[in-house]
Amino acid sequence: MGFLLKIILFGVAIYAVWKTFARWKGLYDKFVGNPQEPARPAPPPPPRPAAPRPAADAQVSARKVVIEETVQCAGCGAYISAGADKCGHCGRLRA
Ligand SMILES: [Zn+2]
Repeated sequence: MGFLLKIILFGVAIYAVWKTFARWKGLYDKFVGNPQEPARPAPPPPPRPAAPRPAADAQVSARKVVIEETVQCAGCGAYISAGADKCGHCGRLRA
């Protein structure tokens, strides 16, 4: 009976040592990092709710481009953007 008790105590001791080792190993990997498998947190995915907003803005800007007015250059007669301050063809400054 004493021998069996020693076996059981030995097993419990081994189990405790293993659990302690595993716990400290986990803590070590958690704080120091495992060189084989770097504890790199996955980068957060781009926020989905913010995605439609730029698209809507792009649509608005595209619409602005579509309705953008053109003016005729007084120097060369080319049609240039009304927002441009200089003709792209002859370089004449718009009045
Ligand atoms: Zn011009």
